[in-house]
Amino acid sequence: MKEALEIIGEMPPAFWLVLAFFLGSFVGSFLNVVVYRLPRNCLSINNPKRSFCPSCKTQLKWSDNLPIVGWAVLRGKCRYCGVRFGVRYPLVELLTATLFTLATWRVLISDGNVASQPLAWLTLLHTVLVISVLLPWALIDLDLRMIPDKLTLGPLIVFVPFAAHVDAMKFGLPGSVDPLIFHFGPTWLNGILSALTAGIAAYAGLWLIGKTANVIFAKRVQEMGGEAMGGGDIKLMLLMGVMLGWPKLVAAFFIAIFAGAIIGVFQIILRKGPGTPFGPYLALGAITAALGTKWLVALYDWYMSFLQSLV
Ligand SMILES: [Zn+2]
Repeated sequence: MKEALEIIGEMPPAFWLVLAFFLGSFVGSFLNVVVYRLPRNCLSINNPKRSFCPSCKTQLKWSDNLPIVGWAVLRGKCRYCGVRFGVRYPLVELLTATLFTLATWRVLISDGNVASQPLAWLTLLHTVLVISVLLPWALIDLDLRMIPDKLTLGPLIVFVPFAAHVDAMKFGLPGSVDPLIFHFGPTWLNGILSALTAGIAAYAGLWLIGKTANVIFAKRVQEMGGEAMGGGDIKLMLLMGVMLGWPKLVAAFFIAIFAGAIIGVFQIILRKGPGTPFGPYLALGAITAALGTKWLVALYDWYMSFLQSLV
């Protein structure tokens, strides 16, 4: 075991990055399947086993199914009926591969090579799971403006026990910020309780904001036909709290609002409507917070010292 870890620790970082890109592209390919099949109740994730053309239903050859490469070889068209496959398929594969590579670099390499430490791999696993849950979340919300409960409540079963690994919650945070809310008993228990508390508080907070908005903007909400805050967004906050812990959840929420405001202004200027649902922005915020907390903290420090230099 010790020798195996030594060998792993001596592997060149480039090896892990290439491996992460390769695995990420296959996960991305699987996520495309999830996004297409999960909201369609008649299709299950593993049946039929092989992917098929959504137009002529012909089973695809395994080589046509290879992430990124398969799409490029076919030039985005079905081999049998010629229907165009959206460019989104390879883009999702490329995005997942890129995020996996970034996560691997960030967790294992950027602060000194820690590949020989098993707990670092657990943190990396946590990060890629966050990416793999939130990407299909965002895409299904974009497509259908709704989220199947399978994709919020299902992952909770994984992420609640995962919160026992407090390193993942602490990852990227400055030492002065403590993601633990409780300090009794063993750390792993406090990790789980703190993550759950963050999630439930976020859930309650967003629910309250939504209800208040419904009252204040009653007329406008009625015109739009529905609620100011979608039920899916509220459940996502619960999941994000459990995934990230409170400091990163707060960061994720502000990134979501900031990105939503910028893109919303562009949509108004270009008269593109209807607006994007909030879910994808929350997913963007959460993935940014999971991967880039260290940079966010640096940005915040820079901003604060900039403000101080003004007075
Ligand atoms: Zn076809």
